This record gives sequence, C-alpha cells and structure tokens, in this order.
Amino acid sequence: MVSADTYSEPIEEMRRRELVEVTIDSLAEVGFVGTTLAQIAARAGVSPGLVAHYFDDKDGLLEAAFRSLARRVGSQVRARLRQVATPRGRIQAVIDANLAPEEFDQRTGGAWLAFWGQVLHVERLERIQSVYQRRTLSVLRNSLLKLVAPDEAQSLAAMIAAMIDGVWLRAALSGWREADSESARAMLTAFVDGRLAHSGAKSDRAGKAAVDAAPASPAPGQRFSSINPATGEILGQVTVSGVAQVNAAVAAAVQAQTIWAAKTSAERGRILRRTADLLRSRNEELAVLETKDTGKPIQETRVVDVASGADCFEYFAGIAQSLSGEHIDLGPQAFGYTRREPLGVVAGIGAWNYPLQIACWKAAPALACGNAMIFKPAELTPFSAVKLQEILAEAGAPAGIFQVVQGFAETGRLLTAHRDIRKISLTGEVGTGKAVMSDAARTLKSVTLELGGKSPLIVFDDANIDNAVSGALLANFYSSGQVCSNATRVFVRRSIKAAFLERLVRRVNAMRIGDPMNPETQVGALISEEHMNKVLGYIARGRAEGARILTGGMRVTRGELAKGFFVAPTVFDDCRDDMAIVREEIFGPVMAVLEFEDEEDVIGRANATEFGLAAGVFTNDLTRGHRVIARLQAGTCWINHYNVTPVELPFGGVKLSGLGRENGRAALEHYTQLKSVYVAMGNVDAPY
Ligand code: NDP
Repeated sequence: MVSADTYSEPIEEMRRRELVEVTIDSLAEVGFVGTTLAQIAARAGVSPGLVAHYFDDKDGLLEAAFRSLARRVGSQVRARLRQVATPRGRIQAVIDANLAPEEFDQRTGGAWLAFWGQVLHVERLERIQSVYQRRTLSVLRNSLLKLVAPDEAQSLAAMIAAMIDGVWLRAALSGWREADSESARAMLTAFVDGRLAHSGAKSDRAGKAAVDAAPASPAPGQRFSSINPATGEILGQVTVSGVAQVNAAVAAAVQAQTIWAAKTSAERGRILRRTADLLRSRNEELAVLETKDTGKPIQETRVVDVASGADCFEYFAGIAQSLSGEHIDLGPQAFGYTRREPLGVVAGIGAWNYPLQIACWKAAPALACGNAMIFKPAELTPFSAVKLQEILAEAGAPAGIFQVVQGFAETGRLLTAHRDIRKISLTGEVGTGKAVMSDAARTLKSVTLELGGKSPLIVFDDANIDNAVSGALLANFYSSGQVCSNATRVFVRRSIKAAFLERLVRRVNAMRIGDPMNPETQVGALISEEHMNKVLGYIARGRAEGARILTGGMRVTRGELAKGFFVAPTVFDDCRDDMAIVREEIFGPVMAVLEFEDEEDVIGRANATEFGLAAGVFTNDLTRGHRVIARLQAGTCWINHYNVTPVELPFGGVKLSGLGRENGRAALEHYTQLKSVYVAMGNVDAPY
C-alpha cells in the first residue's frame, strides 16, 4: 500500500533535495551574496538549525547545490553520448546537453552565474568546476582526435568549450533576454561543421539535431543492453541497425510492398485479422514481456497493451475493404474518379511507454492501406515490436512487409533521411518531433507526429465527485504517469475542492505500489533511473516553488524496490499556473491540483499552454460539457471520463502536441495518397 509510512526514501534525502532546489532558486533570484542560511531556511519554511544539520554551513549547502547542477548536466551529456556512436555525434551531444533549453533558462543560468563568480574564491566549488571542465574537454578532444590532427583536436576542443561558455555567459549577461537555446546550438553546430570542413576532416555528422544534414551509420556491431526498470536485471542485448541494415530493410520492404499492394483488400484484411487473433492468443506471453521491459504493472499490460494492439489490427482489417475513392460527375463528356493508393514504404518510430501498442497503432493502418512499414522502437523497450514482426509473418504477411530496426536516434535518422521511405510516423517528445519534421523535409516526406502534452482536466461543481476522482486518477497514475495524454493539471471548482481532495488522497493512499509482476500491483516502476531523477527533480522543484504535497513526493526504496526506479504517486495542492510542475511535461506520477471559480477563466487557463494533446471535463450539465469542450484547444477530449482510447476514435494533438491522427478512419488519410483520374467520353477538341 502506498501510504506515507511505507515510503522508504529517507526523509533526509528528500529534505536535502528540497533545500538544494530552494538554494538554486535563491541564487537565481538574489545571487551568491544574498543567499544566506537564514534566508534559505525561511524560504523552505524550516529552521536555520535544520539547514545547518544537513549541510553544516553555507559553503556546504552551496557545494551541494553546485554538485546537483553539475551532476544534472553531466547525466544529460552521458545520456546523449549513449545514443551516438560516431565522433561527430559525440561532439554534438556535448553541445546539445550544455545548451539544452532546461539549462539555458533564467533560473538554472542564474544559479550557474552565481557559482562562477565564486569558483575562484571557494576551493570546494573550484574542484567541482574543474572536474566538470576536464570531463567536457576530454570528451571533445577524444572525439576530435578521430576527425582531425592531434594538435588541432586539442585547440578545437578548447574553442568549442570556450564557445559554449561564451554563448552562455552572453545570454546570462543580457538578463536572459537574448537566451535562445535553439539558435545557440545552431551557432555552435555551424562553427564546428565549418572548422571540420576547413580542416578537411571526414565529418561523420551523426547524432545531431535538426540542423544536421545526412546522418551517418552507427558503428557496425554496436550493441546495447535492455534492462528491467523494476529490478535492474538485464533482459537482453540488442544490436544497433546501421546504414547497411536499414538499406537492406528498405530494399526488402520495397519488394514486399509490391506484392502486398497487389493483393485484394479482402486478402490483406484477412491477414490483419489473423494478426489480431494471434496477438490475443499470445496475450499472457506478450504482457509479461511488456511488463519486464517497461516496468508497468502486469494488471495493466494484461488488459490494455496487447488488447488495444489487437483491437487496432481487427479494426483496420475490417476497414481495409472499405477503402475507396470517389466518382466525380463532369457532365456528359467526361467523368473523374480518385484512387486512394498506398504511399509505398513508410517508417514508424516509437516511444517507450506503450511499445507494442504504438507499433500496432502504426503498423495496422499502414498495412491495411497497402504500405510496407519499417519500425524502430525506443532503445529502452526494444523487444515487443520484434514479436509483432514474428506474429505478422505467422499470420501470412509477406516477408519484409513489417520489419524492425533497432537503435538510438541515429538509426531513427537513417529512416527519416532515406529516399525510399515516403512517410514517418513518430511518437515521442516535441523536440524529437521538430527534428524529425526538419529531417523529413529534405526528402519531402509526410509526417504524423504524436508528441507530448500537459493536458487539463476541469471538474465543475455539478460533477459526480467520485467519477471525477476516478477520472483524475486515470488521468495521472496509469503506467506510473507515463502517458502522453495525461491530464496533469486538474482544475477543480473552489466549492468542491476540499471534498474532491479528501476522496482523491484517500484513494491514492490506497494504491498498491510494488513488483510489477505481482497481479495486485497498481503502480510499477518508471522507465529508467535518469527518467526517475527527472521526475524527482520536478517534485523537488514543486515543493521549492511553494506547492504543497498532499501525498507521495518521493522515491520508493522499500525492500526489493530499491533495485528499481519507483516513485510514489504524488498530488500537489496550492499550485499556481506559473509553476514548472504546472507548465512542463513531467511524464511521471505527479498531479497538480488547481482551483478555479469561473468557467470563462478556467478555459483561458486550460488553453494557456503550448501543448494541445488532450483535455477532459467533468460536469453533469450537458450543455456546459459540450460548450467547454468545444473551446478547449486539444485534439482528443473526454466528457465525464479520461484516457479511454477506443480505436474507432481518432487520436492526436494540436499546437505543439502533434500533427495528423492515429486510429479511426482519419488514420487512412495519413497512409494513402490520392490519384485523380479524368476520363474523356467524347472526341478531343484541340485548338491546333
Ligand atoms: P523521444 O522523443 O525521446 O523518442 C521517441 C523515439 O524517437 C525513440 O525511438 C527515439 O530513439 C527516436 N528519436 C530520438 N531522436 C530522433 C531523431 N532525431 N530522429 C529520429 N528518431 C529519433 O520520446 P520518449 O521515448 O522519451 O517518449 C516520451 C515522449 O513521448 C513524451 O513526450 C510523451 O508525451 C510522448 N508520447 C506521445 C504520445 C502521443 O500519442 N501523442 C504517446 C506516447 C508518448 P531512442 O529513444 O531509441 O534513442
């Protein structure tokens, strides 16, 4: 059971994290000199003695805060380095991590600036800074050594590091008015490419963001391990697909697509229906695989992940036969018609939260429309898409019609860049969506982008409160909160907020967190340590910004759970719209409750976000429900429910949450192209 006394993350660790976040806020706002132990204690609402108990003195506290910032950038650099195998990609990883939007903002930058001013005077800070600098230079130098002569590698590494610092310092000194992470990265990228071109280096240019040109192949034979995030157990080793494998897959797909498209839609439909049946018959095996790979509870994967994939194949199996064009009357001398034709070879790139479901949601409509698909799962969850490939073959699909390639962003970019792939359907983060769209533009591919969100759920005072609480729970804690459409901003009408919160907290406290393989478990692990730290960082930031935790708010390390990445379902009250936990996608079990009084006002606040994936309304007033939903800027909405996604309904986002739709008849638009045919019925009247 999840209740405060069973959480085992030491309270000290939590308190430390929170004090460090408060210190970063303080440094950003009042600088190094203004940040005192007494002031930190007042901000955190604790006694100065308690701060001293944890950190001894101001230097100790500042050292902890500086370490925390340096560790965060360091772990971002390492995460990016893990995703690239080429020297040019490694240089880019350092640039992208150091100038990422989350580092390049006023708060983080303000704190770094305060530290930099002290580094020369405080030995403990100087040590942290010099370790960080040495590491950065060493990654840059070692990567450059593979591209240019040794003396040039040395000086170019120093130049890149100096430029990162310089760009950053200029932004800080402009009061962050000139801070633009994207332009800063583009500038550094252009500088590095220019220098490498000038020195005649064989720049491999891989692993970079949108500004990059053709991607290179990951190193041949590169392998990665996939782990069970609940136990740390290694599930298997996977070989990364490079240029040769991707080219071979595309060539096989081109052949298979010709055979597949020549079948009648009824024949294609039969194979897709058999696929649905096979998925269902292997439900248990696939659910276990998915639970081990993702850390999600088996009670979820048994009923949702495989089943929703099977539903999707069944739906598009049926719909395959209704694919049709139009007849257009052009008078007695002519008529026209349209043919709805496949695009050819298309690619799917998946996220890690619903690996099998995402593969099915992309493959089923693509195949129903006569395309072949090459699919790259997220590197964190590589296994279940391979099972889908086997199942499709068993169901009678021609070899090559659905193939899985494995790897990181580099492999994804090989797909986006490939001339013979006509479309990319991506599920991932907004930044990845922009990079994919930009890469796809080079070969004018169409894209479907299913991206992130920060969706609102609005609970009016005439709602059935128990249903609204159920909706809020479904909207925040399923799959440990790792659901794109989650409504993490729960707006509750002031008059019912106390009753709503009382029932909500009671039910959250009764949720069972534990071994995902135990059928009783309701809350499993987060996907990785890095992601867990990101979520815990947001929780600490929420506290530091003044939100109040009603329940949860910590890592769970009780017993065997210490081996995995578990975070207790967390509810924040006293939230404001400007808080980071209310504005940014956390992608973890963190709910922010906000109160409202007025319908017009809450609609404005709900829409005041760059995202637009989903939204929900709980009300028993029929007209209000439809009126409010009509004004919410979101692609997928629910009235008096949340996060149910029947395949019959199109799913997708507006604004930065994406382009295009999956599921429903709408998906057919995105996997076909129209051919218009004019048919003359009389003589040709030519003026020549
Ligand atoms: P990412 O964007 O990090 O990755 C998504 C996929 O894209 C992965 O397979 C990744 O490879 C690949 N990739 C990364 N960079 C590139 C690139 N430049 N070119 C081509 N492929 C690339 O997302 P996450 O896996 O972290 O998933 C979480 C995100 O997905 C959240 O923002 C969530 O909201 C969103 N999401 C959206 C859904 C929707 O339907 N709208 C549904 C589910 C999730 P690899 O990871 O192997 O390196």
